[in-house]
Amino acid sequence: MEQKKILVVDDEIEILRFIEKAFQKNNYFVKVTNEPLEAENILKKNNFDIVLLDLKMPGMDGMELLEIIKKNYSKVEVIIMTANATLETALECLRKGAIEYLIKPFEIAELFATIEKAIRVIELKAQLVSMKELEKLKDEFMSTVSHELRTPLTAISGAIEILYEREKVEDEKRGGFRRQIDKDMHKLLSIIGRQTKKMKELVNNLLDFTKMEAGFIELKKENIPIKKLVQEVIDEIKPLAETKKIEITQKICSENINCDYEYIKRVITNLLSNSIKYTQENGKVSIVFDKVGDEIRCVVEDTGVGIAKENLDKIFEKFYRVDQSLTRESGGFGLGLSICHKIIELHNGKIWVESEGLAKGSKFIFTLPI
Ligand code: ADP
Repeated sequence: MEQKKILVVDDEIEILRFIEKAFQKNNYFVKVTNEPLEAENILKKNNFDIVLLDLKMPGMDGMELLEIIKKNYSKVEVIIMTANATLETALECLRKGAIEYLIKPFEIAELFATIEKAIRVIELKAQLVSMKELEKLKDEFMSTVSHELRTPLTAISGAIEILYEREKVEDEKRGGFRRQIDKDMHKLLSIIGRQTKKMKELVNNLLDFTKMEAGFIELKKENIPIKKLVQEVIDEIKPLAETKKIEITQKICSENINCDYEYIKRVITNLLSNSIKYTQENGKVSIVFDKVGDEIRCVVEDTGVGIAKENLDKIFEKFYRVDQSLTRESGGFGLGLSICHKIIELHNGKIWVESEGLAKGSKFIFTLPI
């Protein structure tokens, strides 16, 4: 561990000598001064970790020096020493940023226990700073990567579209007749098309998520008829439901809602496609919108795999995915629901999930103020 640097400020010379010796013996870098006005000059010259500060000194009040230190040397931890600590002064010192106080006279063991506590705090704070820096780097990295991935993906999608068109023209030329090689090509092209679409969705989710995390989202609110919005989502999502023979029922109130059309559409799409993803063939999915008090409430319910009680709170967390064996097939990043959460939060609404447990279906509910 790196040698910690301590400054002791006290007008009583004997106490200074006593503390100085104790620290030197224990291999600390220590400087002492009985001049509070001198303390700032000493602080400027060295990178101290801790200041041990007497409260009552002639020339400058310890409290005043504490404020100066916390303002100008925010990384330095201050321990107050006082002979007549009332609870009030002690609390005042802690409120002004001191980490602890020692009541004079104190034992050497007490002094070192307090110093060790301060050192632990300093180390934890340093760890926190490096974690925050790492988190920022990670966000920047994710944002750059998803951005860079979008360009080649768009080019691939464009090329696939052209190939599909050519295939159609060729097909027409041959009067609908397809050779085996054409059938194989068509199958391969479909796989590339499907997987590219999925990759685009993943990358878009990642990009949107990083934007939202960084607070780069501006809502474009407008007055929207809920029925129209839901119908659009259902029309888009129907083919997915049909492949699993899942019936989608709807009951939608005739209110309008003031929201960002694209983002709320995204939430509904996400909830409905999750319901389809996590429901077995021939299952049922329903969506209900109604007005409850001064809120609009949406409930998306399915008869699918359900969610275990212990996972209910976690599924809105970023990158959280329940049991991989259940979800491997559907292959997301675990970002869809955290994006929904953020969107609803930005609209001052609430979103949550209810489920009686595994195999008992799920119910996702969100509310928006009217
Ligand atoms: P993913 O991309 O994994 O679908 P989401 O954030 O949309 O990410 O969902 C997180 C997890 O929540 C999913 O991996 C899944 O386990 C669970 N989940 C979401 N919707 C449902 C649902 N309707 N029924 C059961 N589990 C669900």
